[in-house]
Amino acid sequence: MLQVQPNFYMNSIIEKLCEERKIRLTENRRIVARVISQSDDHPDVEEVYQRALKINPRIGIATVYRALNFFEEFGLIARHDFLGRGKSRYEKLDGDDHHDHLVDISCNEVHEFYNEELEKLKERIAKEHGFELVGHRLELYCRPIRKK
Ligand SMILES: [Zn+2]
Repeated sequence: MLQVQPNFYMNSIIEKLCEERKIRLTENRRIVARVISQSDDHPDVEEVYQRALKINPRIGIATVYRALNFFEEFGLIARHDFLGRGKSRYEKLDGDDHHDHLVDISCNEVHEFYNEELEKLKERIAKEHGFELVGHRLELYCRPIRKK
């Protein structure tokens, strides 16, 4: 009989990308890969660690930190320092999921957005300066509009 596996133990997107690129993963790196793959909220190291602990109560924060650096080096995750406060937050990077960020400075919550016009504008600006756009980051710092 076929056993249905809980979603968590299926290979995450980061694990799949590692397999394709023949990157070997230890069990702890797999845990971090799964945590990041399933997070939509740009967690910081501490949050990744807390989530990883639920899977392996013996994982150390240094291991989590090293795993994050490891995936970042391979271009599988992105590290953000929103607002330049020296606090790194992470998210998975899978090729075609490009988006920009809007940071609510009243609560540090991060929202994602994508704007076709803006994407074209970025390319046009680069081109007008004689460049081909190969990447970019955009963060908008905002506060909610208070309704009167
Ligand atoms: Zn994001």
